[in-house]
Amino acid sequence: MLGQMMNKPMLISSLIDHADTYHSDTEIFSVETTGGVETATWGSVAGNARRLGSVLSKLGLSEQARCATLAWNNRRHLEIYYGVSGAGFVCHTINPRLFPEQLVFIANHAEDEVLFFDKTFVPLAALLADKAEKLKHLVYMGPRDEEVAEKVPNVTFYDEMIAEGDADFAWPDFDENTASSLCYTSGTTGNPKGVLYSHRSTVLHAFAANSIDCIGFSARDVVMPVVPMFHVNAWGAPYSCAMSGARMVMPGPGLDGESLVKLIDTYDITLALGVPTIWLGLLGYAAKSGSKLNSLERTVIGGSACPPSMIDTFRDTYGVDTIHAWGMSEMSPLGSTNQPLAKHSKLPVEEQRKLRENQGRPPYGVELKIVDDNGKQQPNDGKTQGDLMVRGYWVLDSYFRQEDEDLLDDGWFATGDVATLDPDGYMTIRDRSKDIIKSGGEWISSVELENIAMSHPKLANAAVIGVPHPKWDERPLLVAVKAEGEEPSKEELLAYFEDKIAKWQIPDTVVFIDALPLNATGKVLKRNLRDQFNDVLSA
Ligand code: AMP
Repeated sequence: MLGQMMNKPMLISSLIDHADTYHSDTEIFSVETTGGVETATWGSVAGNARRLGSVLSKLGLSEQARCATLAWNNRRHLEIYYGVSGAGFVCHTINPRLFPEQLVFIANHAEDEVLFFDKTFVPLAALLADKAEKLKHLVYMGPRDEEVAEKVPNVTFYDEMIAEGDADFAWPDFDENTASSLCYTSGTTGNPKGVLYSHRSTVLHAFAANSIDCIGFSARDVVMPVVPMFHVNAWGAPYSCAMSGARMVMPGPGLDGESLVKLIDTYDITLALGVPTIWLGLLGYAAKSGSKLNSLERTVIGGSACPPSMIDTFRDTYGVDTIHAWGMSEMSPLGSTNQPLAKHSKLPVEEQRKLRENQGRPPYGVELKIVDDNGKQQPNDGKTQGDLMVRGYWVLDSYFRQEDEDLLDDGWFATGDVATLDPDGYMTIRDRSKDIIKSGGEWISSVELENIAMSHPKLANAAVIGVPHPKWDERPLLVAVKAEGEEPSKEELLAYFEDKIAKWQIPDTVVFIDALPLNATGKVLKRNLRDQFNDVLSA
């Protein structure tokens, strides 16, 4: 017997329609790539998205054509998210920090037919105009600009394009399993792989993110996604914010500490999302400038492990609660968030704080399990570690154009992370499986050592890698970046680990470096460090 409720497809257009109907005058503040801040509203964004959708529908694009973006977080990018997907096309956000050869590979692999680009990326747009074979329409995200017209042949100007669009355009209706957006993983080896999200997975992910024990975006929040819209759809914030009618601040190209602190203080931002490296810069500038980040209530930190010292600083100095989150491109990205349980409130404060440090537990819609080398499920005892497997409503089934490859293991996706799970489902990520340090048959978590190093006041940043050792196979090496004006000795850094971890897990030595190499999404490139320091213990 079929259920007798409406079978209304979950489409991305319904999110922007909702924001338009119920939050029309709610502001979207947008830092423009060419300078200045403009104020839009959900109503104006919705109107422009419909205009764009109507124009795209008349361009003669193929069915589900990929429309790419090379853009910062700004108002036009938000309109493109909705205009493209709403009209039934696929919004392909390209990470401009990738190497030019990778960009060309991605644009050709995706067969992008349209490219929207910001002023910063004019040279990349010119490159793709030349090298991306299916590209027919290049759209500059701004008003007419002769300088851009000179550099990019046959360019169209976004503002002129949508001026001709239909603000009353009716979104088409289609199957909720249709593709809506595409994002390539940065892939430290081999070519990037495409993750193709659907309308259904995106809307379900937005519901989950909006639950109070996940992130819980609210109509009373002012949200700043610092995480780029070209990195897993800014963790879905543009969708969740439309669903809840939150105000948004789109930070544009300036992601340095000073710019972000000023935005927080000017626009009374309550909730900000980003990777740990971004917050290092922000906390540095807040301390220097004396800003108390008064409006900020919550930060969502993920993408790589958030050092506990950062959670402490946010809480103790600024009264900000950190929601430590874990996820990946293949999971849209939310896999877990750290929020407390009722029973935790009875624990001593120190214990409560400790429990907030790990990557948290999954929202409804995601399941996690750990397995050993033979695929056998391991206990959720908080101690046993294993390869982390996931499944759920917004987890990928196969990579784009690799549909024939059987990626899943009995319906589960192998994340490549090594983790422990406790009986309540709280997860601690111990490492990427390729980064874990194997010393004399024992495993050492580089994340744990990095968390300790990061709490040393004389260090600005730190990474720990395993390097070959004649006796123990591998031993941990601390790669440290000194804090400004500090000269820590190797001995004092190593001594700092002594009462915090078993003796045999303490790094063998320290090397200093000016800055850690980062990949296109702000994660430390440990492979580069391993290449550079491979011989430190064996030479
Ligand atoms: P990406 O698909 O580029 O977002 O990378 C996903 C990977 O980032 C995960 O598989 C983890 O290895 C890592 N990651 C994301 N969030 C966290 C976190 N909170 N703690 C530790 N690692 C993380």
